[in-house]
This record gives sequence, C-alpha cells and structure tokens, in this order.
Amino acid sequence: MTVMLGDPIERRRADLVTVDERFALVARGDENVERLYAGGRWLEGPVYVPAWRCLLFSDIPNDRILRWDEVSGTVSIFRQPAGYTNGHTLDGLGRLVSCEQGNRRVTRTEADGSITVLADRYDGLRLNSPNDVVVRRDGSIWFTDPPYGITSDYEGHKAEQELAGCHVYRLDPSTGELRIVADDFARPNGLAFSLDESQLYVVDTPRKHIRRFDVKDDGRLAGGDVFAPCEAGVFDGIRMDADGRVWAATHEGVHCFDPDGTLLGKLLIPEVVSNICFGGPKRNRLFICATTSVYSWLLTTNGAPQPYS
Ligand code: MG
Repeated sequence: MTVMLGDPIERRRADLVTVDERFALVARGDENVERLYAGGRWLEGPVYVPAWRCLLFSDIPNDRILRWDEVSGTVSIFRQPAGYTNGHTLDGLGRLVSCEQGNRRVTRTEADGSITVLADRYDGLRLNSPNDVVVRRDGSIWFTDPPYGITSDYEGHKAEQELAGCHVYRLDPSTGELRIVADDFARPNGLAFSLDESQLYVVDTPRKHIRRFDVKDDGRLAGGDVFAPCEAGVFDGIRMDADGRVWAATHEGVHCFDPDGTLLGKLLIPEVVSNICFGGPKRNRLFICATTSVYSWLLTTNGAPQPYS
C-alpha cells in the first residue's frame, strides 16, 4: 500500500461548471482540488514521470525545473539553471524531452543525465523559443515555436527573432530532419495528438482557438479548421484523455471538450492556468500548473497513454 507522507497545502471544493451533461462522466471523482505547491512565479510544462513517481514542471521566470515527489509530497529543484524550460514530455523510452525557451532549443535528457540538443535551428536560423512538445508513436517530435522567450528577459533572453514566423515543427530524431508542418499560426502553443494519431490539435494563443489537423501518412498536415474557441482569455497547454476528450488550460481554469468540439464543462481555478497533464500510477489525476501554484484533481477518466500525454 502506498503511504502518502505529504499533505497538500490546501484542499478546496472543486469549482465545477457543467455545460453539457456528458461532463459528469469525467467529473464524478474527488470533490476537492488539492493545491500541491505555491512557490512559483509562472509555472508551466508539467509532465508526470511514472518511473520516478514525480511531477516535473517549469518555473520559467525563476529558470528552474521543479520536482514534486508523489510519495513524500515534497518539492525540490530538479535543475537550475534550466535554459528557461517551458513544455516537457516523455518520449517512447521514457526520456524527458524539453523545450528550452531561453536556449531556444529542444533537448532530451538521457538516462545518465546528459542533455542532447535535438533541434535549435531551422535552415541555419535560430528557433524563436520552443514552447510545447509532444512525441508521436513513431518517435517523431512535434513542437511549437512562438517568441515568448525572446520578447523580454522575463521568460528567457530578449533577442531578435531570426525566423520569419512562428511555426509548428516536426523533428525526426533518427535523421535530424526538421520540417515546418504548419506556417499559418500567430503564436502556436499547446499541442496534442488524437488517440490514433490521425489528428493533431494545436493552440493558436492570440487567436484564442484550438485547430485540428489531419496527419498524413508522410507526416504532413492537412485541414486545420478551428476545433474550439476559447471563451475565457486564451488557451495555452492542452492534453488528451483516454476517450479522446481535449482538456485545455485557460485564464479561468481547465476546459474539457468532447471530440465533437462541444465544451462539456470547466474546472475553475483561482489563478490563470498555463498547462496541464495527466499522471499518477493510474493516470487519472489531472495536474494543473496555474501561475504560482500546482493543483491536482482526481478524475473518473484517465489520461491518454504515453507518449501522447
Ligand atoms: Mg505553452
């Protein structure tokens, strides 16, 4: 039996808004939301690491990756400086893949702790500041590249943008080939594959919507219609659950969408939410990075299996 040594800082009643009755299918779990940590400045990029029973997340302006230990409930520094990391995910071998906004690159942390640079330039020009990343089952690494890490020194290092736009990229780590797969975004941000990987959802933050693309056999994208608009500020990170629902970070909390695009319901959070992920041994715990704090909520659904979520 697992003994939980660490108590959350606070438990508060889950503040739910049901928009569609189907939301009850996922929201019949814990009545309370737990606040696990409250010492950040702008928290982002949560990833649950099953092998270590921990959540890693970025505290971007403080240039550190923090580690919440699931067994003890304690939070410690995993890496600092950290290249102003933002989004993280795990690849198919459980290795940490990170967007380093400050270093303007995507990296992988190897089993021995060394860091491998996967991508830092396109066509000889430096990337803007990779923001969020997801790995497909074939090993390809897909990431977004808005300029949030170079527009000021707050979340990285102020610098000129070298590339003409803010694109979505696909990297083949076996060959190093980096390809632009979408070039018509204002500032692409969170992204997630559908369960069968035939579709890719990508947030365009300033346009306040999520788009959905078809993924071709050769890895190219088609379509890209708006899947859902944001009715509370802007979207940032998104994740997929095991039934194909899309969970999205907004300015008022987390919104849950059916695959048909219907807004099913909301979990309101008292801070602006940046990003989310599923975790816990059963992947039925939603971790929420929200400005200064990390919250969690136990669901009656599960996150999509790794490596997608
Ligand atoms: Mg983001």
